[in-house]
Amino acid sequence: VGAGTAEAAENRILVFVRLRPMSRKEEAGSRSCVKIVNKKEVYLTEYASENDYLRLKRVRGRHFCFDSAFPDSTTQAEIYNTSTADLVEGVLQGRNGTVFCYGATGAGKTYTMLGTMESPGVMVLAIKDLFSKVRQRSYDGNHSIQLSYLEIYNETVRDLLSPGRPLHLREDKQGTVAAGLTQYRAYSTDEVMKLLQQGNKNRTTEPTRVNETSSRSHAILQVIVEYRFMDGVSIVTRVGKLSLIDLAGSERALATDQRTQRSIEGANINRSLLALSNCINALVEGKKHIPYRNSKLTQLLKDSLGGSCNTVMIANISPSNLTFGETQNTLHWADRAK
Ligand code: ADP
Ligand code: MG
Repeated sequence: VGAGTAEAAENRILVFVRLRPMSRKEEAGSRSCVKIVNKKEVYLTEYASENDYLRLKRVRGRHFCFDSAFPDSTTQAEIYNTSTADLVEGVLQGRNGTVFCYGATGAGKTYTMLGTMESPGVMVLAIKDLFSKVRQRSYDGNHSIQLSYLEIYNETVRDLLSPGRPLHLREDKQGTVAAGLTQYRAYSTDEVMKLLQQGNKNRTTEPTRVNETSSRSHAILQVIVEYRFMDGVSIVTRVGKLSLIDLAGSERALATDQRTQRSIEGANINRSLLALSNCINALVEGKKHIPYRNSKLTQLLKDSLGGSCNTVMIANISPSNLTFGETQNTLHWADRAK
């Protein structure tokens, strides 16, 4: 399923699930509790004896179906091609697009979005693809690609490419923008990977774990593609914006009442994550009023969520039974976004 199929059904969010491989440590002390079937069904097995998938299908909260579910062998390129390639095409046509990675800390969000030097993730592959597409088309006009990379932490917006004072949000002809944010004019893919890795080092860390990115920080890469061309005697400018977002850890975002399988929102919830949930649920339910104003993240994404925008959610999960509860909550959350 490509994101292009979303065009027919407006306001639909494409929801994917990515299972990461077991880590060495997990392999020693736990077993897998997730099974992916038919490239789109996800089964959760709490007990080692539960391998009767037909039965699990009838157990609430144990069987889910998504637009695609990626097993742990899925490559970064496959993830990019299925989830984001069509959005990049849309941005070149002037249509905004957004991709989120959602999931608990350690589930693989940053690996999916940023990746490593050897296995670059969605952010880097998207920019690489943009460059090559622009090069193919440059005969018919003039494109410019600008990048900005920012963080929202405790409802404070910071520039990750040029760290300093917090930035204020203001309304602009291009939507909500962070005043003073660095717009980096990019020319090559190699420099972009270095730039983003440097930016990621600038993400806020918790004082007790200075080498780890805070689980409460959202990282947002915004890519603005401007395309100028002659239409008769006048110059027309078409602008498309792609937002690629590594969300804060979802572990405190949603708990599930085990008896009723209903979600309960935790007291210590991240405001932007909660506001995002509320906007997505309002969009999916077809509500007229979408509460964008409730957080910095949703204010920033006002022109990039819903409407004629393409929106993709990648829910990242770990296979280990030690994180069964978090995995179940992530799947439940993703299920509500469909
Ligand atoms: P998060 O950002 O959700 O907290 P990370 O992306 O940092 O999680 O992933 C946790 C660990 O698992 C990292 O060491 C990462 O390299 C590894 N990892 C995650 N997803 C994959 C994957 N698909 N393949 C290989 N390693 C992965
Ligand atoms: Mg991370």
